[in-house]
Amino acid sequence: MNKVLIKNAWIVTEDSATGIVKNGDILISGDKIAEVGPYINMDEAHIIDGTDMIALPGLVDGHRHNWESLIRSVGVDWNHAQYFTGVKKVMGPAYTPEQTYMANYIGALECLDAGITTLYDWFHNNNSPEHADAAIQGLKDAGIRAVFGYSDDAEGELPVSSKPIDYDDARRVRQTYFSSDNQLLTMSIATRGPQFLEMRHVIDECRLAKELDVPVCIHVGDGFWGRSRPVAGLVELGMLDSTFTCIHCNTLADDEIQMMGEAGAAAVFCPEVEMNMGHGFPAALRLMEAGISPGLGIDVCTSVPGDMFGSMRAALMGIRSVVNAKALEANREVSPLPVTAGDILRFATQNGADACKLGQKIGSITVGKQADIILLNTCALNMFPVLDPVRAVAEAATVRNVDTVIVAGKIRKRKGILEGIDMWDISRKAERIRNELFETAKVPLTGEWVPELYEQT
Ligand SMILES: [Zn+2]
Repeated sequence: MNKVLIKNAWIVTEDSATGIVKNGDILISGDKIAEVGPYINMDEAHIIDGTDMIALPGLVDGHRHNWESLIRSVGVDWNHAQYFTGVKKVMGPAYTPEQTYMANYIGALECLDAGITTLYDWFHNNNSPEHADAAIQGLKDAGIRAVFGYSDDAEGELPVSSKPIDYDDARRVRQTYFSSDNQLLTMSIATRGPQFLEMRHVIDECRLAKELDVPVCIHVGDGFWGRSRPVAGLVELGMLDSTFTCIHCNTLADDEIQMMGEAGAAAVFCPEVEMNMGHGFPAALRLMEAGISPGLGIDVCTSVPGDMFGSMRAALMGIRSVVNAKALEANREVSPLPVTAGDILRFATQNGADACKLGQKIGSITVGKQADIILLNTCALNMFPVLDPVRAVAEAATVRNVDTVIVAGKIRKRKGILEGIDMWDISRKAERIRNELFETAKVPLTGEWVPELYEQT
């Protein structure tokens, strides 16, 4: 069995039993973590020098629509309603399977490059079986761990759609690609939730998830649309349980967040998108008060960058800004500040893994778990001298520090470079395919396009 030995790293395990190990070693055997400790001797292992490196569990992006990677940054100056028109109504229908493949492939590579070893990919441009096939193939070829969130097509969105997902195709996808759960790619049903889809279809989509024995992901509490008490609606019907992960949650009422906690549902918030596009303030603190440890997500690369370092800082800033603003009104200081560097690193690792329903398999550097590990190089001007690895990562790390990325024991990035990837070639192909997509969608390639507001009711 292939063995890799990481030597002499500053290991932030995110495992409460092991904690932080300075000058420690990690032995990987096959796809699993075999040993973590101060000194491991193993002659036949491939050695990675961890000197000046912080070792972390691979980061988990708990929510992204990866198919949008090809139209990166198109909506930086758009609000939520313009996003729905521009991305779902105009660009979405123009996508071919080839463009879908490229989007998912480059999006997954971007994740790996940024130390994201697990991605929840909510695929809501599911326009034909060929599109679903292409999206899955893109993830597979990139070599990332991902949860494929089977969702609706380009037409099926906004208040309130009467078009459910394609049940038979979801069954085909489960059978064709996900007959085993013991692989890098697993499946989930990503349902729009009652704010975007008629309740009868939400119920059927949740029932389908049970039939396929996969978890459910659901958008709730985002912006205007989130005030329709979607969680209360689900609870009244007895639908909400621990197989659910609720995304955003910003405008949910307090009692709905309480209901989520009581049902054992997980949550993911996406602070950069939420604060930029008008979803509402991050719900993280309210979730934590209800006993829910949220994961962190990027959501849409049309509007925000695709790495978790910026997202972690946005989380810290977003949560604290609300509390600080209230305190300022009352002429007082906040002490201690809510949410710590340790909290946000956990959001981006173990909590994200839990939200993907993979928490037993990944999320921490724990013996027996899958070997999803990243090394951050601290021999860089934005990092040294390191005082404390958790605070250093939370405050200062960027993608430039991601030296090594290992997924299930396989090295995907080493010495700052993705293995086996011709970046020049891929970037040219992606640009060509992107231009064809804009041409089909009749959208100018100037970057100045602002779509109409989507009707809110
Ligand atoms: Zn989303």
